[in-house]
Formats: sequence, C-alpha cells, structure tokens
Amino acid sequence: MSSADVDAVLSAFTSRFGRDPEGVWAAPGRVNLIGEHTDYNDGFVMPFALAQAVTVAAEARADGRWSVTSLNQDETHQFGPDDLVPGMDGWHAYVAGVVWALREAGRKVRGADLVLSSDVPVGAGLSSSAALECATLAVLADLSELEIEPLERAKLARRCENEFVGAPTGLMDQAASTLCTVGHALFFDCRSFETEQVHLALDEAGLELLVLDTRTPHALVDSEYAARRRSCEEAARLLGVRALRDVTDLDAALAALPDPEMQRRVRHVVTEDVRVLEAAEMLRQDRITDLAPLLDASHVSMRDDFEITVPTVDLAVETAKAAGALGARMTGGGFGGCIIALVAAGTADQVAAAVATTFDAAGYGAPSHFLGRPSAGAGRIR
Ligand code: ADP
Ligand code: MG
Repeated sequence: MSSADVDAVLSAFTSRFGRDPEGVWAAPGRVNLIGEHTDYNDGFVMPFALAQAVTVAAEARADGRWSVTSLNQDETHQFGPDDLVPGMDGWHAYVAGVVWALREAGRKVRGADLVLSSDVPVGAGLSSSAALECATLAVLADLSELEIEPLERAKLARRCENEFVGAPTGLMDQAASTLCTVGHALFFDCRSFETEQVHLALDEAGLELLVLDTRTPHALVDSEYAARRRSCEEAARLLGVRALRDVTDLDAALAALPDPEMQRRVRHVVTEDVRVLEAAEMLRQDRITDLAPLLDASHVSMRDDFEITVPTVDLAVETAKAAGALGARMTGGGFGGCIIALVAAGTADQVAAAVATTFDAAGYGAPSHFLGRPSAGAGRIR
C-alpha cells in the first residue's frame, strides 16, 4: 500500500460523503517465490505479500446496501442483497462476491460504502484480485463485528473468486494476502492448509528480489490453465493417487504413464513440490542465496515440462541471469506476467535495465519493475 493511496481514498471518501470514513484497511498483492501449479495438486507453495496493496476507506451504512468506488477504474457501483447473483459482470463482482460468500456462510453483513485504490499491477500474476477480495473481507468483517479466523477469511475470499466470479483458482493467493507477515515468506501446504512463516531477510543477506513485469498481453490463459489442471487430474487418476502430491516415486510414475506430454506435466509438479520443500529448509537456515539454483530449476521445469512460459518471459529470465542475477524464474500462472530475480543488493535496477534493452532490441514493449519486499497481510491500517 502506498501512502499516496491512503491519502487518495481518504480524500475521495470525504469529498463523496461529506465526512471521514470509519477507517482504512489494506490487503496486499503477492509474489510466489516458488511452487507454481502445485496448489491444485494438493502440494506446496511459498508466496510472500508485496508492499503493493488494495487500500480501502469505508464506513457502515444503515440501509443494508453496498457501494464501491474504485479510483483506478474511476467508477462507482451500488448493489443490494437481491443483486448478489453468482456470475455478476464487472470488477465489482470481486466485492459483491465477498458479501455473498459471507452471507452463504451464515454471517450477517452490514451495508457499507467503500472507496478503494490499488497499486497492485492488474493481470500481471501478482493477485490484484485476491488483494481486492481480502481487503473487502477485512473491511466487512470489522464493520459487521464478525470474528473470523485468518484461514477462514482466505477460504471465504477464495469462494468469492471460484463460485461468484467464476475463476477456478487454488487457495494460495487469498492465503498469501491474508496470512503473510512482514519479513517472511509463507510456506503453505495446500492440502492440510498448515502454514509456516519462514524468515526472508533479504537485506540481512545483502540481496534484493527484483519483480519485473514483462507486460505481455495474456493469451489463452484460461483455456491453458484448465488444460493443465485436467492433465494433472487425469494423471493422478491413472496413477491411482488422490493428487500428484502423493507421487513418491517419480520414475515409477513416469514409467506408468503412456503419454509423453502427461509425463512432462507430472515431472514438473512432482519436482516443483520437492523444490518448495528444499526452499523452505534453506530459509529456515537463513541460506537465502541457496534459493538461486532452485529458482533456475523451477523456470526450466515450467518452460520445458509444464510449457507455461512464453518467449518474452524466457528472454527476461535469460537476460536477467546474463546481467548478474543469481537465480530467476517466471512467477504466477504463466503465459506472460512477471519474473522474479534474486540479485545482489543495489543491482536490481541494472538487471532490469539490461532486460529493458534486450526487450527493445527484440521489438517487445518496455517492461516495468520494482523490488519485492516481504510485507504484512490484510488488516486495518487506520
Ligand atoms: P490478477 O489477480 O493476476 O491481477 P485477475 O484477472 O485475477 O488478475 O484479476 C484482475 C481483475 O481484478 C481486474 O480485471 C478487475 O476486475 C479486478 N481488480 C483488481 N484490482 C482492481 C482495482 N483496483 N479496481 C477495480 N477492479 C480491480
Ligand atoms: Mg487473480
């Protein structure tokens, strides 16, 4: 969250309603350090919350209706209980769906006015959608005086995304936006939902984590994502396991699968789970530099086995490495979006500049970048 966003939502709220809001809440976007497409295979992920967040000024209202203004969209929408129909169109479905999920869970939600602003890049694989849901949930829980455990909040926000908006995602994004803490990555078991805060003190290790948005327009994401999920589910069925998380002998599993494409998909998921477990162990020992080869191996696996990278992303990773990054990988669901690169402190800008130069020479649009700083999860900030 930026202080500019806090000022913006406060002044927009005041000029719209003629008084101060009851409070200000924020929920972050996230970057996934490692563990891609493992969540829906009951496996392991390790995201951390970014400083970038959705910031919301809000106040309860008496008539049991809701209004939401997004300063990014320059739009206001109003809705009441009768409008809460899954499949609703428009960005405000992410807000209405949280009201819907709370009510479906038997919670009494007070009406409210929300004014929000966000500095989470949209559609870049940094979960601006989960940030919007988790911020809305934090607002409504407080205004309605609901006691809801953090993991339960994440599940309600996911329910909004899966059942109301209609995007079939795992729990990682909402868990990250809700549960992450400053200075840590979240080691998350997507089957048991067990969590562990693992220390990620980049500055103490003399490191920075560059997040570079390739700004590649996403194409075919939904259909390719669905195809990967289907392939993993089919492989688990053929192997007689509940989910690919349960594959303990990779060679035996590969030998049991006839289709080379399916073999590659399984190899990615199984080796990626192992990499997340190794990464968690390294962070427990404060060996952050040792993450670098795991990031590299994760990228190769996504590129060659899971086949979810695209030329811009591969070029960004290669260039970052050539410019001195210790390790680099695409982060997020794939087919565009961001890469992360672990770099020596003070070198992120020069690594990003090298990628920008290569992109220019290749005729690609200019990328953007920032430093990923492990930040706090959703909550009230004023
Ligand atoms: P990602 O979560 O990777 O950024 P998604 O496609 O899942 O991408 O979610 C992006 C959608 O979330 C946007 O198209 C919009 O509907 C909604 N959204 C995110 N941030 C905002 C915002 N600040 N204002 C309004 N809608 C937003
Ligand atoms: Mg999203």
